[in-house]
Amino acid sequence: MTEPYDVAVVGGGASGLAAAIAAARDGARTCIVERDVACGLPILATGNGRCNLSNERLDPRRYRHPDIARRVMGDDPEAAVSSLFDSLGLLSSPVEGRLYPVTRRAESVRDVLLSGCARAEVDSLCGTEVRSVSYADGTWTLEVDAPTRCVRVEETGKAALRRARKALAAAPRDSRALRAHAVVLAPGGACAKTCALFAVPHMDEEPLLCPIACDGPSGMDLDALDGLRAEGMLTLKRGGACIAFEEGEVLFRPYGISGIAAFNLSRRIEPGDTIELDLFPRHSEPALRSLLERRMQAVGAFPGDPAWFDGMLARPLAGAVCAYARALGNDLAAVASALHRFPLAVTGTAEHAQAQVRRGGIPWSAVDTETLSITRETIGHGLYACGEALDMDADCGGYNLAWAWISGLRAGAAAAQLR
Ligand SMILES: Cc1cc2nc3c(=O)[nH]c(=O)nc-3n(C[C@H](O)[C@H](O)[C@H](O)COP(=O)(O)OP(=O)(O)OC[C@H]3O[C@@H](n4cnc5c(N)ncnc54)[C@H](O)[C@@H]3O)c2cc1C
Repeated sequence: MTEPYDVAVVGGGASGLAAAIAAARDGARTCIVERDVACGLPILATGNGRCNLSNERLDPRRYRHPDIARRVMGDDPEAAVSSLFDSLGLLSSPVEGRLYPVTRRAESVRDVLLSGCARAEVDSLCGTEVRSVSYADGTWTLEVDAPTRCVRVEETGKAALRRARKALAAAPRDSRALRAHAVVLAPGGACAKTCALFAVPHMDEEPLLCPIACDGPSGMDLDALDGLRAEGMLTLKRGGACIAFEEGEVLFRPYGISGIAAFNLSRRIEPGDTIELDLFPRHSEPALRSLLERRMQAVGAFPGDPAWFDGMLARPLAGAVCAYARALGNDLAAVASALHRFPLAVTGTAEHAQAQVRRGGIPWSAVDTETLSITRETIGHGLYACGEALDMDADCGGYNLAWAWISGLRAGAAAAQLR
């Protein structure tokens, strides 16, 4: 029987690769068990293919549990991320505070992590599924099944990936036992099955950072606005109180709104909330009134017709504003109010396939925030977790990947200490 690994990392995405690098650099014999055809594939989809890998300011308040985020990420999380990527040779640069690789290609981030793993002599066992788990005498045994011959993604691009996944699905497989003294769980946000295998507590998952389903005022449907983009400010209100606001591009869809500002608010909404859309956030109330008065002098009195807004608002949006202004009294004050506070009635989140993160997963009551070890009695000792599998989520802007890197480094380093 082969010697057990010191550390086996289950899941070779962002956090799993960071965990494996940390463990191996601390001298642990490390492997990654990845069920997909290659490690690092989830990274390729991030930041629209550019990978917004972190943020210049990793404010804990951007995270679901700020105190826990602060404890796990430490006093200088920005330095922790830059030190990882400096050590891997990745150059990054900011766009409005968000950090991207200078190549603006997510492949660069994936590639430096894979090279870092190779240099640290991490074994990557791809296409490998964990079927059952046991623990005895300080060693975990993972019964895994894997293709009998290695299936590789030979070229870049989606078509090559599809071909490789097809080949993996068709490949003959066999089972074997893989042993390790410590296991790091890094299976990402959809982790219920992996948690069940290891008898780790699991909270229901909820897709977030996705579009918001909502109706216009008085049930107005938003079909006519589908595909339209507008710059604006979204203010989330509950029982009249302002809960949060986001500024940016709003993309209208038949079911509601999309775009980064809506994605960020999706972490905070509840059905029954109202989102007020301000189409002129840079104009105070008096400034907007005077803009509208000047417009009346230029193009005539407001007739309640969307064409009056030509050159100022796209026609379909002007139609919606006119309909709402009519309900408010149809005078200039009503128009100003409709432009500053166009109400959207929230019914929930939408398009879950687009969700960037999931809330839920492994609850903090079962985790030691110092080492990220699972403290609740599971099958055995020496089990750690990192990344999105833990109940942590954050706004768009590089915060989620920063969490993946830092929690991965912490769990990997702690797991390496067990050997
Ligand atoms: C479209 C999209 C864009 C995003 N863009 C950004 C962005 O620009 N910036 C940002 O900060 N965040 C972004 N995110 C969020 C970010 O990608 C995640 O927060 C991050 O990838 C989580 O890392 P992870 O390692 O926990 O999980 P993942 O990266 O999802 O990796 C999990 C890995 O585990 C494997 N796995 C799962 N279960 C098992 C098992 N039982 N056995 C073996 N392997 C298993 C999976 O195949 C996968 O490779 C984006 C997310 C999406 C979906």
